[in-house]
Amino acid sequence: MKNRVYIKDLKDHVGKEITIAGWVDVRRDQGKMVFFDMRDVTGKVQCVALPSRADVIEKGKEIRPEWVLEITGIVNKRPEKNIKAGVLNGEVEMEVIGIEILNKAETLPFDITTDTSVINEDTRLKYRYLDLRSDRMQKNIRMRSEFVKRVREFLFSKMFTEIETPLLTESTPEGSRDFVVPSRINPGNFYALPQSPQQYKQLLMVGGMEKYFQIARALRDEDLRADRGFEHTQVDVEMSFVEMEDVMNLIEEMMTTVVESMGFKIKQKPFPRITYKESMSKYGADKFDMRTEEEKKDKNILAYAWVVNFPFFEKTDEGKWTFTHNPFSMPIPEHIDWLMKGENIENILTTQYDLVCNGYESGGGSIRAHKPEILEATYKVMGYSQEEIKDRIGHMLEAFKYGAPSHGGIALGVERNLMNLTGESYLREVVAFPMTRGGKTAVMNAPKSLEEKQLKELGIKLVK
Ligand code: ASP
Repeated sequence: MKNRVYIKDLKDHVGKEITIAGWVDVRRDQGKMVFFDMRDVTGKVQCVALPSRADVIEKGKEIRPEWVLEITGIVNKRPEKNIKAGVLNGEVEMEVIGIEILNKAETLPFDITTDTSVINEDTRLKYRYLDLRSDRMQKNIRMRSEFVKRVREFLFSKMFTEIETPLLTESTPEGSRDFVVPSRINPGNFYALPQSPQQYKQLLMVGGMEKYFQIARALRDEDLRADRGFEHTQVDVEMSFVEMEDVMNLIEEMMTTVVESMGFKIKQKPFPRITYKESMSKYGADKFDMRTEEEKKDKNILAYAWVVNFPFFEKTDEGKWTFTHNPFSMPIPEHIDWLMKGENIENILTTQYDLVCNGYESGGGSIRAHKPEILEATYKVMGYSQEEIKDRIGHMLEAFKYGAPSHGGIALGVERNLMNLTGESYLREVVAFPMTRGGKTAVMNAPKSLEEKQLKELGIKLVK
């Protein structure tokens, strides 16, 4: 578009004729004059069609909210008495010379000029692209981008390499149900979508990458909750030659740098550390909110804490041992011996560290078992036979035979962190296209049945 000026920059063009483009926000018809606000990605500005321009007035009377316009006009300073406090560009307005209608809009199914969180979820998600135009959603989605950008910048400044890992992969023993994808060229066989890049990021350490990160999608077929969807994004990190302190210190520095640069205050630095045992006895849970009632009202305060010394194993309903967090973790150094001997299982602590913030788990990770015999011992404790171990993690045991460095990492949930930054209580408020509570995609119609031809190609027969 020729010489388009963003609304936020209008104040630098006072007295000049310029062009803006965007949506009609609200329109006020005042007899001889027409007023309307225009909105673009940077803000809003009041436009005035004066009676002296009959053609403009005529067009101005026709326009409706959410029409898409290109407006040519002169930027004027607004009279002092009219300047609305707090309104972006409150000090300037546009005297309209020309209106080009780029597209008309039907009346929207709901009002986007107010807080849309009260609107029926199905309607909101069916028309998510309209919902996204609302101030709050614009702010939330942009803040998410800002957060991820600053995380990336921080990690790059610390010599990390951003590496993608496969989406079509093998089922990982992360503890949740997998989403599976049928393979057309290997009928009867399935890929799993990754619950996390756990194994690949460890293999990258064996591959000598030393410092890896990825803004990774992770998929888990779990029951949907306010703070949990089928898919989520995590800042996934893995580092070689580190101990718990190294990872925790780096992530603490990262979170501090990122959120403080975004204008947030951290309640306590360095982040307090608490053992799982203390946390359970003090808060009755392994995540907690350390803010006072007063602080909870101030959206800008973030109370981070680390939780450490988690038990490595817990009993399943069938009375078998299973891992509490991550089977690839290393026990704390003092307990390696117990693991190797298969003794004292209930007392073995893992090197897991969880980062909590304002009542949510904002991340978690551990130092990994990089020696094949330690990883193997973990699986033996969980009752796997030699054959089952080989089948499950044989590739990892094999990889660890060829000079695997010590390593550890963490994953931080982007959505949960954003819920804290925005003060939102629902995941869907910080995701552009979230699912409904019933697991239906926003706007588009999934999941849905396949055509007979597709099923045949995949070698799938449905059971009615
Ligand atoms: N893979 C773990 C998770 O997704 C995080 C980690 O240990 O790095 O929860």
